Amino acid sequence: MAPTILCVGMAGSGKTTFLQRLNSDLHAAKKPPYVINLDPAVHDVPYGANIDIRDTINYHKVMDDYGLGPNGAITTSLNLFATKIDQVLNIVEKRSDQYSNILVDTPGQIEVFMWSASGQIITDAFASAGPTMIAYIIDTPRCTSPATFMSNMLYACSILYKTKLPMIIVFNKGDVIEPTFAIEWMNDFEAFQKTLYADHEDSSYMTSLMNSLALMLDEFYNTLDVCSVSAVAGTGFDEFFKVVDKKVEEFNVDYKAERERVK
Ligand code: GDP
Ligand code: MG
Repeated sequence: MAPTILCVGMAGSGKTTFLQRLNSDLHAAKKPPYVINLDPAVHDVPYGANIDIRDTINYHKVMDDYGLGPNGAITTSLNLFATKIDQVLNIVEKRSDQYSNILVDTPGQIEVFMWSASGQIITDAFASAGPTMIAYIIDTPRCTSPATFMSNMLYACSILYKTKLPMIIVFNKGDVIEPTFAIEWMNDFEAFQKTLYADHEDSSYMTSLMNSLALMLDEFYNTLDVCSVSAVAGTGFDEFFKVVDKKVEEFNVDYKAERERVK
């Protein structure tokens, strides 16, 4: 099957806009993707989705029928969709040779997808069908403080650990601020530590905790590829597609072997 790119990230990081840009770039290059929207609560989808969770599941009705709030209704909608995932994959697989990539948009709230049984079922289903990777979208302007940056990276790390899929860190909103600072923090452990210390001079407990976390992240960065894009301005996407090719290789070599081993 064509490679699947699962777009995940915090609410508002720009997943939908990023996917819209991927979609239009691939169409322009005459390499149309197959697009799947898994966000049941989204109002308007700014791309033509081949499969849309909203076509089969009415989020507002789920809320009323089961007496749920917004988050519960998103989770339940995703659960209902997950029960049909084999049918969905059948449809995708049948026509897979006509598409360059499968692009998946996930619910605004990251935890609904990453920390639910259905999210796991859907992710695993794609990974069993073909090369699958996570594009972890980061709201760069919101990550300029070292503490927020580290929290975001720890979250990314937990997703890598949980899914065991190749991951691309996508610094989005490069039109607002270039992620130069973040890339420096990732490449230079000491530079990052210095910035952290400046924020927490007085607490030895925090200092030692941060040291350990930063050290752990340093190891995590080795497995990552990083891109800088602006989904709005459309910059950085050539580089992103190069990294996608690399991650397909990685999936085929490392991840397949690992998945076979734990089966
Ligand atoms: P999602 O919740 O992750 O799907 O995020 P959306 O794609 O809905 O985007 C959230 C907000 O961020 C919207 O107002 C977008 O216009 C804005 N946004 C997304 N990408 C970019 C970008 O590259 N640059 C700027 N300046 N804003 C962006
Ligand atoms: Mg969205």
